[in-house]
Amino acid sequence: MASGEGRRRHHDLVPLAALLKREMKSEKMEKPTVRVGHAAQSKKGEDYFLIKTDCQRVPGNSSSSFSVFAIFDGHNGNAAAIFTREHLLNHVLGALPRGLGRDEWLQALPRALVAGFVKTDKEFQSRGETSGTTATFVIVDRWTVTVASVGDSRCILDTQGGAVTSLTVDHRLEENIEERERVTSSGGEVGRLSIVGGAEIGPLRCWPGGLCLSRSIGDMDVGEFIVPIPYVKQVKLSKAGGRLIIASDGIWDALSSEMAAKSCRGLPAELAAMQVVKEALRTRGLKDDTTCIVVDIIPPDNELPPTPPPPKRNKLRDLLSFRKSSRDSASKLSKKLSAINIVEELFEEGSAMLAERLGNDDNLNSGQSTSGIFVCAVCQVDLAPSEGISVHAGSIFSTSSKPWEGPFLCFDCRDKKDAMEGKRPSGVKVS
Ligand SMILES: [Zn+2]
Repeated sequence: MASGEGRRRHHDLVPLAALLKREMKSEKMEKPTVRVGHAAQSKKGEDYFLIKTDCQRVPGNSSSSFSVFAIFDGHNGNAAAIFTREHLLNHVLGALPRGLGRDEWLQALPRALVAGFVKTDKEFQSRGETSGTTATFVIVDRWTVTVASVGDSRCILDTQGGAVTSLTVDHRLEENIEERERVTSSGGEVGRLSIVGGAEIGPLRCWPGGLCLSRSIGDMDVGEFIVPIPYVKQVKLSKAGGRLIIASDGIWDALSSEMAAKSCRGLPAELAAMQVVKEALRTRGLKDDTTCIVVDIIPPDNELPPTPPPPKRNKLRDLLSFRKSSRDSASKLSKKLSAINIVEELFEEGSAMLAERLGNDDNLNSGQSTSGIFVCAVCQVDLAPSEGISVHAGSIFSTSSKPWEGPFLCFDCRDKKDAMEGKRPSGVKVS
């Protein structure tokens, strides 16, 4: 690093003050304004939410700030929702390697989210309390939105052009065939509740336990094939910004994604959240806890919320779709496409297999803590070399050709992984 003195000796260099000013200006241009609103109507008191707009990637550095928004819809009690609200963020951040730049940090997020969800689930289950929760967890870093979710609390994106997309999938046995197959092949039974006389009623549930969801945090009294491994999606918005609507099923059982988005267009975030809840109650009444967070990501120098879409032209409409692109060409492509308001998809993965989600270690995720000790990729505990079990194989000293390559799991997390894949009898051991 050039010191201040070194700089002053070179007359052709830009003065530091001018440099800083220029940097601050581009910083301001680059950074969207984030506005948030929240509204809720409680029926059972099992919906919880998190709004945190002051997180910093580098502590003390305000230009590294990001925001977190989440909804936790509990069932069979509120303990899992409260626990997850308190610990999930820390567990996700704890799974991220230190000292990463913004781009590397964003790339490392999907894996850290998986580790954080599994760690939270494992910790909650070890307390021996029943109850479970959905978790829809959204990180907004400038124009990049990363969503991780288990359960059926949806997050949708409404863009300036009027295209509404879901950033989550619903982990409901009734509607998700893939998840139904996974659960049955892991030893669970899927069927409806039968009442006296043998008639079957209600949505598809998983037995034992009778849960309608195929993924959740907690639920120790349900089979372990009900996993806490989140679906993760990461997108980069165009410089036109967009609106996120995150809500529990109290909203989505009453309104489609399009209806929710349309009902609040043109309103500022706080009023928009109230409007969505009002619309859901008007349609269906208060049948369930109903919680909604609206997040507006607004271009700098434009303090207005996203406006209603202009009249649609077919040509433009064709272009209003997601476009996959590799990270290498991402920024170039993004610039070209931002003019026509295309949301760039950076990452999407929904597999329930832990090994697939943790991937192979590379430079970003070396599996080693800064002290050089191996750490468990899920719970982050230090591992003695003899303890580490590669997520992909048996003991690191036997099967792997590169035994120093992880990721590694502690015995406990390996056990959890096997249980989630139906490789050991279900049912949590309570010690
Ligand atoms: Zn572990």
